[in-house]
Amino acid sequence: MSTEPITRKLMLYFPECETEKPIVYHLVKDYDLIINIFRARVTPEEEGYLVLDVTGTEEHILQGTEFIRSLGIRIDAVNKGLAWDENKCAQCGSCVPHCPTNALSIPDRNTMEIVFNTEECIECLSCIKVCPFAAVSSLF
Ligand code: SF4
Ligand code: SF4
Repeated sequence: MSTEPITRKLMLYFPECETEKPIVYHLVKDYDLIINIFRARVTPEEEGYLVLDVTGTEEHILQGTEFIRSLGIRIDAVNKGLAWDENKCAQCGSCVPHCPTNALSIPDRNTMEIVFNTEECIECLSCIKVCPFAAVSSLF
């Protein structure tokens, strides 16, 4: 297994009873991971969400995710907290200059089609504020 650091995006879903566990503390201290939290909604005694990047060796990330799962917390490595609905998108382009990472972009100036690259999205939510057609929404 490579010892080069890699970064994984994770969306964590906490059931009601698990929101007070100091997960980030343990990921940093016990598994030597660097954590970058994009968004969080963690309210005591309610279900919660955390969207974050974890950076470290593959082995440490695997151990860290096993630890998270052992606490009854669900990990979704694919889903993001932001959804872009292609069918609602009117291709108006209003969101593009407001997206700091080019996650929403117009790669082909001939077609002028909007493309959403979920990997680039840092969930700043700027696009939600400017989209006149509610084509982007927050999952939480
Ligand atoms: S949430 Fe921010 S980074 Fe993600 S697509 Fe919207 S503007 Fe871009
Ligand atoms: S602002 Fe909304 S409707 Fe316009 S291109 Fe962006 S996502 Fe599509």
